[in-house]
Amino acid sequence: MEDLMQKIVSLAKRRGFIFPNSEIYGGFGSSYDFGPLGAEMKNNIKNAWRREMLQSQDNIVGLDSAIIMNPKIWQASGHLSAGFSDELVECKKCHHRFRKDFLERDKCPECGGELTDSKKFNLMMKTFVGSLEDEAAMTFLRAETCQGIYVNFDNIVNSMRLKLPFGVAQIGKSFRNEITPKDFIYRTREFEQMEMQWFCEPKSADEYFEYWKEQRMKWYLNLGVKKDNLRFREVAKEELAHYAKRAADIEYKFPFGWKEIEGIHNRGDWDLSNHSKCSGKELKYEGYYPYIIETSGGADRGFLAFLIDAYEEVKGGRTETTEAVKEVEVMLKLHRSLAPVKVAILPLLKNKPELVKKAKEVYELLKPHFICQYDEAGSIGRRYRRQDETGTLFCLTVDFDSLENNDLTIRDRDSMKQERVKIENLVDILKEKLEN
Ligand code: ATP
Repeated sequence: MEDLMQKIVSLAKRRGFIFPNSEIYGGFGSSYDFGPLGAEMKNNIKNAWRREMLQSQDNIVGLDSAIIMNPKIWQASGHLSAGFSDELVECKKCHHRFRKDFLERDKCPECGGELTDSKKFNLMMKTFVGSLEDEAAMTFLRAETCQGIYVNFDNIVNSMRLKLPFGVAQIGKSFRNEITPKDFIYRTREFEQMEMQWFCEPKSADEYFEYWKEQRMKWYLNLGVKKDNLRFREVAKEELAHYAKRAADIEYKFPFGWKEIEGIHNRGDWDLSNHSKCSGKELKYEGYYPYIIETSGGADRGFLAFLIDAYEEVKGGRTETTEAVKEVEVMLKLHRSLAPVKVAILPLLKNKPELVKKAKEVYELLKPHFICQYDEAGSIGRRYRRQDETGTLFCLTVDFDSLENNDLTIRDRDSMKQERVKIENLVDILKEKLEN
């Protein structure tokens, strides 16, 4: 299974999905950059989430709050106390540091050396604001996006004239000084969250908790993640975060085990009551503190789950080429709304100027409507395979008949069926295919 992770990491780099960060300087502590196709796919994930929250669901509004905020917020939220710390141990010999609960034995996994007793290590990322680097100028990069929502509670209710129950949804970067970032982009120190806070009456909190659990699971399923690779895990009382009354995780079966990709939390009135107490501004709705049901997903963890789930190897190859293909062909069966490139336009031969000209005209025609790629290098079979490997949905081939009849073939990634269509109908046909 580890082997699969190596293949994913290698494909991600080779085909422009994910690059190691600061690579030419030797990398930078489990940090990654999303390449051209990765950036596109990540935006598709975020757009799918926004469509779900802000269009398909009722009564949810958006927000884009700042990453750097008044440090008092983190005092009030409980993030500066022991509750937001992990147990850290250090090797007495090589001085590597580890998160204690990740260790399988009580010896250093790097050198076998003896470990120190554990101590609490707070995960907030410190930074300084302004020209003085003293205590007074110190603040933190946000560790979760939701605090920006809580402290804007009044602004949002008043400006949008909202009635309970309602939700506020936000996507943005969060930072945690993880002791042991690992498993590619699964656990990093800088990551992106997609969080929705649902404000409701305390008496309906349990009901909404169940509702949002189901809705969030459905979202992953509707985006094509295999049912067998998803499950819920109810978080045990003693494991609950400091703010949570109840929590359930949505877990994905990664090659390195079942792991959380999203949490659904009943945060009770912890956040609004604490911010009221600490700020002096009463954040009540009609005389009481609403309860909050939170859905908190990671765009990066989701990305990794979608990528792994879509990865397929076809032995012996599935595309006809003139080259002998005995080896394995890779394809990414990404959901149509997540695939980074929707359409590839391929002239049959690159040394025939009339084919190239026609193909480029098709590219110009489609470019305003879809994310397209024009590709003329290599045999047609090789180009199909290259597009399959990055999940491109449709390959359009311009051949000699196209010049006569003003048509081309559309090849469908999944069925590999080829269909001949008129170029003047192409935009409508592709739109219909992408919508259904
Ligand atoms: P874990 O137990 O794995 O550290 P958590 O329970 O602390 O995660 P939450 O605080 O519930 O995570 O955060 C909500 C979501 O944010 C997670 O489900 C995950 O998708 C994402 N997330 C949290 N920490 C990280 C991280 N270090 N790297 C990438 N994504 C993260």
